[in-house]
Parts: sequence; structure tokens; C-alpha cells
Amino acid sequence: MSISSEAVGSDKSFNELIGIAKEIVKNMFGEAGEKILDYLVSKGYIAEERIATSIDVRSNEARKILQRLSDEALVVPDRLRDEETGEALHIWRLNNTALKSFILNRLRKTREKLELLLKYESEGSIYICRTCNRRFYIDEAYAYGFQCPHDNDVLVEANNPTTIANLKESIRKINTLISMIERMQSGGGKV
Ligand SMILES: [Zn+2]
Repeated sequence: MSISSEAVGSDKSFNELIGIAKEIVKNMFGEAGEKILDYLVSKGYIAEERIATSIDVRSNEARKILQRLSDEALVVPDRLRDEETGEALHIWRLNNTALKSFILNRLRKTREKLELLLKYESEGSIYICRTCNRRFYIDEAYAYGFQCPHDNDVLVEANNPTTIANLKESIRKINTLISMIERMQSGGGKV
């Protein structure tokens, strides 16, 4: 009984990790990234030679995404011989053991960005165009002569308590997520 409940436990954290990884990959690469990860989760790998027939993503785009995922160690290159055709395939395997560190790295990077934004917002070093709502760091605003490069409206200091509160809330959520994932036992249960 303890064995089966343990197995369920690790499957559960694996599924949770995959769910979070999907969100992250979708943020990074859009729908294409999500499709690739879905395919990798269901098949375990994707073959370079079969990208066009495996997923509904342009091959060039898929290769770029797989390369980026490989930089993050979420996929690793490998070879496989097709048992039916004898063809040697170059494949990308989903690296389950790197799942947890991939997620934590990305979340920590996002938190860093948010903390920096919060710092700038709090210090009043963000400028905004009220016509197009684009935002600029103070050095950019300075370089543009405090005029929006898109519509020439005057850039004004963004002093937005809502933005600051939202940033704080996002950082709080990320912190909760990070400590939840850090407490998870495995790097991805099912290997
Ligand atoms: Zn503008």
C-alpha cells in the first residue's frame, strides 16, 4: 500500500510540474511551444526527421524551440533506430530529471525581472505615453527627449499604485510557487 501511494504521489508531482512547465513554455514560445511539449510528454521524444508529420508546427520554428529547450536542458539529443524502417533518427528526448530545475530557473528569472520593475516603479523611473500606453525606462525616455517615438506625445512619470500592488502580488505568487516546487521530492517522478 505504501508503494502504490508513493507512486501516485510522484506521478502527481510529475503532472503538476508538467503543468507548470507547459505554462512557462507557452509564455516563452506561444502555442507552438505548448504543442511540442505536449507531444514530448505523450511520446517521450520527437525525431528531427519526423517533425513535419508529428506536430502541427513549422519545422524551422520547431527546431528553434527544441534548440532553446536544449539550452535549458529540458530536452537532450539522442539517436534511435526506427524498428520498422531501420532508419537512424536524430531525436530530442524530454529530460524529466531537469524538469524541476528548468521551472525553478525560469521562475527565479521572472522574479528577478519583476523585482527590478518594482524597484523602477517604486523609484518613479518608469515613463509612460498616455496616447499609446507604451512604457519606457528613464534612460530610454531621456534618449527620446521625453517624447514618445511612436506618436510624439509627451512621456510622463508613471506613478501607478495599482501597478506596484500588482507587481508585489505577482512576486508573492511566484515565491509561493517556488517554495512549493522546492519542497517537491523528485526532479520529475516518472523517469
Ligand atoms: Zn505613444
